[in-house]
Amino acid sequence: MSSNEILFQRAQITTPGGVNSPVRAFRSVGGTPRFIKKAQGAYIWDAEDKKYIDYIGSWGPAILGHAHPEVIAAVQNAAEQGLSFGAPTEAEILMAEEICKLVPSIEQVRLVSSGTEATMSALRLARGATKRDKIIKFEGCYHGHADSLLVKAGSGLLTFGNPTSSGVPADFTKHTLVLDYNDSDQLEAAFSQFGSEIACVIVEPVAGNMNLIKATEGFLKTMRRLCTEHGSILIFDEVMCGFRVALGGAQSLYNIQPDLTALGKVIGGGLPVAAFGGKAEIMAHLAPLGGVYQAGTLSGNPVAVAAGLTTLKLIQAPEFYTNLSQQTQKLVDGFNSIAAELNIDFCADAIGGMFGIYFRKEVPVSFNQVMQANAATFNRFFHEMLERGIYLAPSAFEAGFVSAMHSDSVIETTINAARDSLRKIYM
Ligand SMILES: *Cc1c(COP(=O)(O)O)cnc(C)c1O
Repeated sequence: MSSNEILFQRAQITTPGGVNSPVRAFRSVGGTPRFIKKAQGAYIWDAEDKKYIDYIGSWGPAILGHAHPEVIAAVQNAAEQGLSFGAPTEAEILMAEEICKLVPSIEQVRLVSSGTEATMSALRLARGATKRDKIIKFEGCYHGHADSLLVKAGSGLLTFGNPTSSGVPADFTKHTLVLDYNDSDQLEAAFSQFGSEIACVIVEPVAGNMNLIKATEGFLKTMRRLCTEHGSILIFDEVMCGFRVALGGAQSLYNIQPDLTALGKVIGGGLPVAAFGGKAEIMAHLAPLGGVYQAGTLSGNPVAVAAGLTTLKLIQAPEFYTNLSQQTQKLVDGFNSIAAELNIDFCADAIGGMFGIYFRKEVPVSFNQVMQANAATFNRFFHEMLERGIYLAPSAFEAGFVSAMHSDSVIETTINAARDSLRKIYM
């Protein structure tokens, strides 16, 4: 047995499924998860000391590459001053100022410790501020695991949703309307029927939890207009795409201002920091100013904020996003040229430092299209790549992440491994 197998068996004795977050268990691709010992730059090492090029990057946070020396130093310095105070610190002000500067739609922000907390709190705030209950979300978008967001579409169009997790009472999801991503007509229909009752629309403006799917401009513009017309709050869940697709997030690329934004992943630089923020008049409904309760023992934790703040500083280096986008595009161009070379149903797409690979002819624009991709072939590809030292997300329905440390030679190694893997699968 390999060291990974030994650890996985042992982990399953004391931890359900052997993991602390389900996708890590390799259930959809099969096989044994790699237990990670260390990471540096574009690489991670497993329990067997096997080295991989990492395209998960902790699911997005590792945008600078793993263990960036300045981030590590900031964390060490902060830790020496004490780990947590349960009282405000100056670093939290700096962090808030930085976020408000980089994302102009955010006038005020509150720090939390996970993306789930950020979206859950933004939702409560939207409901509190509008005094309405109903919310709209889109099939395939993931917004963390709060009860009212673990929902799939109801039996008919414009019927309210059903829980996707057991343990969520149907009563908790009966206010959630689930619509198709990139379908403006459905959105129009939903607002014409329920407009005055809708507290908010929550969306990933670049979806990264059903593989990568970009919103069309028309879809987001329609959403913005309908929310304004009906007094509903528009929440962009940029936990994944914020500071990942561009310095100002997806909202800067689409030039659309949401009322509230949820952030996470990159803003913690690998430690647990997330945030939600937006218009000051909406944020004023939060305790201690207003009646919407929200709190956290470790919110704005000084060590985590040190990592986040340093990361936010470093991603503002000149040309950071130009270079990151270029490297990601080189990877995707490489994948697409292999597809043409071998004439197979395979394609790839990218935005900023995020990419998607799809075992179908064309880049998908909807949840239904992405579900039509050949997941069985992806699973074979995943294992062929893993064997060759390339660590992709262990699911056909997750996005990939490139870091500033993914150099030309790293990308080239990856493309060569992909060519070998795909030849083996198809030839
Ligand atoms: C990861 C993610 C979340 C949840 O964040 P956690 O920190 O895992 O709780 C919410 N929304 C989106 C878009 C995400 O990608």
